[in-house]
Amino acid sequence: MILKDIYGRSISYLRVSLTEKCNLKCGYCYGGPGNGGVLKPQLSDDALFKLIKAFSFMGIDKIRYTGGEPLLRERVADMIKETSKIESFKIIGLTTNGVLLGPRLDSLVGAGLNRLNISLDSLDRKTYAGITGKDCLGSILDAIDLALQYDVFGHIKINIVVMRGINHNEAPRFAEWALDKKIDLRFIEFMPGYKSGWGEELFVGEDEIKKRIGIKLDPLSIGESNSGPAKSFRYGDYPGRISFISAVSRGFCVNCNRLRLTSKGDLVGCLFDSKSVNLGAVVENSDSIEEIASVLKKIFAEQLYRKSPDVKIINGCEPSMRKIGG
Ligand code: SAM
Repeated sequence: MILKDIYGRSISYLRVSLTEKCNLKCGYCYGGPGNGGVLKPQLSDDALFKLIKAFSFMGIDKIRYTGGEPLLRERVADMIKETSKIESFKIIGLTTNGVLLGPRLDSLVGAGLNRLNISLDSLDRKTYAGITGKDCLGSILDAIDLALQYDVFGHIKINIVVMRGINHNEAPRFAEWALDKKIDLRFIEFMPGYKSGWGEELFVGEDEIKKRIGIKLDPLSIGESNSGPAKSFRYGDYPGRISFISAVSRGFCVNCNRLRLTSKGDLVGCLFDSKSVNLGAVVENSDSIEEIASVLKKIFAEQLYRKSPDVKIINGCEPSMRKIGG
């Protein structure tokens, strides 16, 4: 079964935020009740898992665990193991800041994790500490080196949110660092988010980042690149890749193939629309996955707002990336 939205876009990908808590304090992502705020109760592992199974019934075949920091959720490896038992999920990913990753890699891979995204906004120790509030760049780089030894991940994706005056000068250094490794370096345009401090003066678009990198990048062919919003490039015979996620300067809604589920059970149809539908009651009232899936299908068709493919994301809606998971 292929799930389609009212604009005909196929939906095959579910991003699940496992917690609103994070162990870093990145300014652009800190808004909302993350650290220090009042956390609303999250769905139990069982409830979350019922929903995940129901989504697999609806044709979703790719899942990513995110957060907050997903590795702060206690049983994340068990959840990945359970997920890997669901035949339809071929791709099981994790987006993490890497702080707790190194020692957990073996158990995560053993559980079935096969895609890895790590957020890394600077290669300079002081700048990294300034952005994240934690002086731990060395251990993140060690975790990346360790992760590169696992073939199962293919290219490891490294996400950098580019901000003028903070890390924009690092673009060439980042590119040089990544191209030598089996890394897909993803330059993410800074998006407006709740209490993110976004402003034109901090924004650096794809064109400028490309100019700063200053090398001739060749686009990957359609078969080689992933579906989704990133546009990926190679440079000569180097193993690494360079990608751009340009939500602000280009818009990325045309290729939107995803739904987002928060740790509280809110189903979000569009990152840049504040509407969501809470699924807590749906899982409380039924243990039948088929039944839950049929309720979800109805919600998806009737209530869940998906924005049109040509929408501009600067529209006054400022999502809390921490709650939704980016
Ligand atoms: N803690 C995990 C991590 O650091 O990767 C997962 C959660 S984080 C919200 C997921 C992704 O969202 C990160 O790559 C982060 O850089 C990105 N992100 C958060 N706020 C953003 C913003 N305002 N603009 C662009 N990307 C953002």
